[in-house]
Parts: sequence; C-alpha cells; structure tokens
Amino acid sequence: MKFYNLKENDEEISFAGAVKQGLGKNQGLFFPEEIPQLNNIKELLAMPLVERSVQVLFPFVSDDLTKDELTDIVTSAFNFPAQIQPISENRAILELFHGPTLAFKDFGARFMAKCLQSFSKDKKITILTATSGDTGAAVAHAFHGIDNIRVVIMYPKGKISLLQEKMFTTLGGNIETIAVEGDFDDCQALVKKSFDDEELKNTIGLNSANSINISRLLAQICYYFEAVAQLTRQKGTADLDNIVFSVPSGNFGNLTAGLFAKAMGLPIKRFIAATNENDTVPRYLETGEWSPNDTVATISNAMDVSNPNNWPRVEHMLKSEIVDKDCVSSVSIDEQQTQITMIGLAKLGYISEPHAAVAFKALQYGANDNEFGVFLGTAHPAKFKDVVESTLGQPIALPKELADCATETTLSIDMPADFAKLREYLLANA
Ligand SMILES: *Cc1c(COP(=O)(O)O)cnc(C)c1O
Repeated sequence: MKFYNLKENDEEISFAGAVKQGLGKNQGLFFPEEIPQLNNIKELLAMPLVERSVQVLFPFVSDDLTKDELTDIVTSAFNFPAQIQPISENRAILELFHGPTLAFKDFGARFMAKCLQSFSKDKKITILTATSGDTGAAVAHAFHGIDNIRVVIMYPKGKISLLQEKMFTTLGGNIETIAVEGDFDDCQALVKKSFDDEELKNTIGLNSANSINISRLLAQICYYFEAVAQLTRQKGTADLDNIVFSVPSGNFGNLTAGLFAKAMGLPIKRFIAATNENDTVPRYLETGEWSPNDTVATISNAMDVSNPNNWPRVEHMLKSEIVDKDCVSSVSIDEQQTQITMIGLAKLGYISEPHAAVAFKALQYGANDNEFGVFLGTAHPAKFKDVVESTLGQPIALPKELADCATETTLSIDMPADFAKLREYLLANA
C-alpha cells in the first residue's frame, strides 16, 4: 500500500518511505491510500494481541515487510499488555501504561523504532522530536542503544514534571535532550522549521518520531482491537454495537488511530475526544472556526496543545466520510472538574491521574447510561505523583521504572526557542 501527502496529493510514498521521512512536502501528513477492510473481525478478536496485531497491520506494510519481519517487530514492540479494568457496570478503563515508560506512547514509539531500525540499516538517521512529557520518555527508551540512530529530544524547560524529565534526560549515549526556553508549541514549531530546511534535513538524515509519524499511529490501532477483544471475552458479543471510546487528546494521534480501527471494521459506535482547557477542537466542532488560543498549562500537561498536529488526518477522515461525520464529539474539561473526577474515581476504588480523569469526565457528559463507555488510561498515576497525591491526599508508590531513574543526573542542555541556534547545534554535533 502507498501513502500520500494530505497537502500535496501527488506525493506518494511506500510505508518504509513514510516512516523514514515522517512529514511530506509542505509539512503535509502521510495518509494511507485506502483503509484495509477486515471482514474476519470475530476471528481476529479471538486471537492473542501479537498475532492479531500482525493481521491488522500487515495490509499497510506488506510492500516493505514480510509477515515474518512484521511478526518479529510486533513481538518485540508489544511485549507488555493493554488491560481493560472495569470501573462500574457500564464504564471501564483501557490501561495503556504497562510499558517500559508507563505511558501509552510506548506502543507507538517501540513499533516505530523497530521499523526504522529495519528500514535504515546503512544510513545514519537523526530523530528530532518535541515532547510535552511522555513522548520523550517513550521515544528515548524505544531508541536507546540502536546503532546509527541519533535521537534529539526537545521539551519546554520547567514545564514538565521532574520525574517525567528524569525518564528521558538521564539515558545518554545516542539520546540527546534539549530544554527549550518556551512552551510545547515553540518546540513543535522548531521541529517543523527543521523539516522545512532541505539542506539540514539531508545532511543529518532528519526524521521525526512525533505522533505525526504514520508508524506510531498504525501501532496504536492495535490496542483498540485488544480492548474490544477483552470486552467480548468478558461480556460476550451482545454489547458490541454500543461501545463509546473517550480519548484524552492532545495532538489527536490516539483519536486518529481509533478512527482507523473503526474504519477497518472494528465495532466502535463513536468517539469522544476529551481535552483539557486547551479546547481548540471542541470549539472548532461547535463553531466551525479553527482559532487556537495561547496554550495554557494544566495538570494534564501531556495534552497542553492548542494546535494539534494530527488534526488534519481526523478532518480528512470526517470530511471524506471514511468514518461517519457524527462519530466524533469533543468536550473540554477544566482543572477543577479534573480533580473532582480523580477524587470520584478514587471513591469508586480506582486511583487515576489527570489525563484519564479528563476522559472519564467526558464520558459522564457525552455518553448515555445505555452505552458502554471505555476511557483510555494513557499514563500510570505515579508519573503524575505530585498532583495525584495532593488531589487525593494519599501517598502513591513509585513503580520500579520511575524509582530507578529518579536519582540519576539530567544530561540536558538549555537553549532559547531559536531555530538558528538549534540548526547550529544539530550540524555541529552530527
Ligand atoms: C500524549 C499523551 C496524550 C495525548 O495523546 P495524543 O495522541 O497526542 O492526543 C494523553 N495523555 C498522555 C498521558 C499523553 O502522554
């Protein structure tokens, strides 16, 4: 299958090309030429995660990978579970944080790293990525120690939690980290400028591991299938027409993957895109006007994005009716409601963190009692230890992954949000 550029439709490229290149001309996002239709959903749902994921992904990648190669990649990338946990009779969380960096981004980042490793044996590549928190850790761990791949990660200085920072700035080796004096959108703008600079791009073999990379999105399709598979096992097939996913959204990669799953035939009734106070999308869906405000800092900081970079893919799917126009609604949850919801979830016996709480609250607004609501748990509560502890008034233990890196030294350099400085750095250290 080929992938084409949503902005410059003539640009077509293979899966391997799209993975290596990240973004197309004029910063256009790659999109599959067609959405594979799976007509053996029941059979797929009965399979284990890895076997099923190979079936789901193979049509997208078959020009570049054999089934055996894909199986090797998926087996090593998805070596941890996605887990449905019931919250109440008609609500459940899909826990996506059982990977090495305790966040759902491990799925996409690990799959991307293995693909890239397989596609770029001979050529040196530089991964340049911006993170508002979790991407950095997931990408750093996924690529750490892979020969021939240099990773440069930028993040807004002082705007992510200390533990989040420790998870990706202490590795060293092929992982370089830059604390940018600015916010996440500044970091994202620097990445975009770098990709516009053809000379820089070619000299250092630039690639982005952000959620704009198609490989990350494709990987994320697989856990929607896993969720429905587990629900089917627990509840039988009777309720399959009735599942609503609430997705805590920042750059809208997670939602895009869910829409792919639905378009491929997975029975999902509809989606709620839950945002924090950075509410560009809910306002857009209501008014038809795209008018991002300045990004505001919230306790669900991985969603502090006011210009979500995956939105063009969602828009394309809705406009061209790859999915039903009405299958996405969106709601913004403020800081106070987020904290009240965390307390509410704790009373139900579930310790949660702000991102999942935003998504759970959105279900309360957006889903009926007769719908089965699944909200995505995108990070382990310990990754947001400070706010979880102060909100709930009780201590939470650090899992081993976090405890191990908490005491190590941060290796980042500081830099102003200035493209010339970044360019100089990237070339000097190539
Ligand atoms: C990245 C992230 C999100 C947002 O996901 P998108 O795919 O960017 O919409 C939500 N929660 C957490 C914890 C994240 O790290």
